[in-house]
Amino acid sequence: MKRPVLAANWKMNNGPTAAKKFMDAFLATYGRRDDRTVIVFAPSVSVSIVAASIGNRSDVIAGVQNIYWAEKGAFTGETSAAMARDAGARVTLVGHSERRHVFGETDEQCAKKCAAAARGGLSFMLCIGETIEQREAGETERLVKRQLREGLTQTENLISVDFSIAYEPVWAIGTGLTASAADASAIHTVIRSELRDMIGTRANEIPILYGGSVNSTNAASLLRAPEIDGLLVGGASVEASSWLSIAQT
Ligand code: PEP
Repeated sequence: MKRPVLAANWKMNNGPTAAKKFMDAFLATYGRRDDRTVIVFAPSVSVSIVAASIGNRSDVIAGVQNIYWAEKGAFTGETSAAMARDAGARVTLVGHSERRHVFGETDEQCAKKCAAAARGGLSFMLCIGETIEQREAGETERLVKRQLREGLTQTENLISVDFSIAYEPVWAIGTGLTASAADASAIHTVIRSELRDMIGTRANEIPILYGGSVNSTNAASLLRAPEIDGLLVGGASVEASSWLSIAQT
C-alpha cells in the first residue's frame, strides 16, 4: 500500500492572514488521515503561521518554497535552511520550474540548495522537468536524468538523506495541460531507475511526485498509477476548498 504525498504549492499567494484562514478552514474539515501525508509549501512569511496551525501532528507538514544555500550573512531577501526550520518548515522545494525559468536558477544552484537543506535539517523536494521544446525534440529523458544527477550531486551521504523528487513538465505547469498518467509514469520509471543507479535499493523509498495542472478532476486517475507516489499542486491548492478535495482524493 502506498502512502501518497499530497503537496500544495501556494506560489506567491496566501500571506500570513490568508494562510491562517486557509489552515483553519482546511484542518477543520480534513480531520486526520494516517494513510497519506499532506505538505503545505508556503511563502516564507507564512511558514510560521502554517506550522503553528499544524501543531504537533505528523500527517500535515509545513514546507517553504525556497531557501538560499548560505547559512547566514549579507544575502538580503534570502532565507537559510536554519531560518526556515526555525519558522517551522520541515521541507523545502528546490528547483521549482518558476525558480529555474523566471529567476534563472541553474542545476548547480539547485545542488547547493539541496545540500544546504540536508545540512540544515530540512528535507527537500527537488523539482525537475522538461520544456515543450525539449519534449518535442525528444530530450525529456536526457534532461530529467541530468537535472536529477546534477541537483543531487553536492548532497553528502545522499543514501541516508530525507528527500523526494517532483516531476513537473514545464509545459504542464499552470497551463491546464496535464501529462497523462501513462506519460508521467514512463518518466517516473526513468527517474526511479536513475536513482537506483545512484543510491541502490534506498531509491525504492524516495517518493516521486507528479505536478502540472493537477486538479480535483484529474487527481484520482494520476494517483492510481503505481509509479506516481504523490502530487504537487500549484493553482488548485491556493483556495482551501479546492485543496481539500485534492488532499482527500
Ligand atoms: C506547481 O506550482 O508546482 C504546479 C504544478 O502548478 P500548477 O498545479 O498550477 O500547474
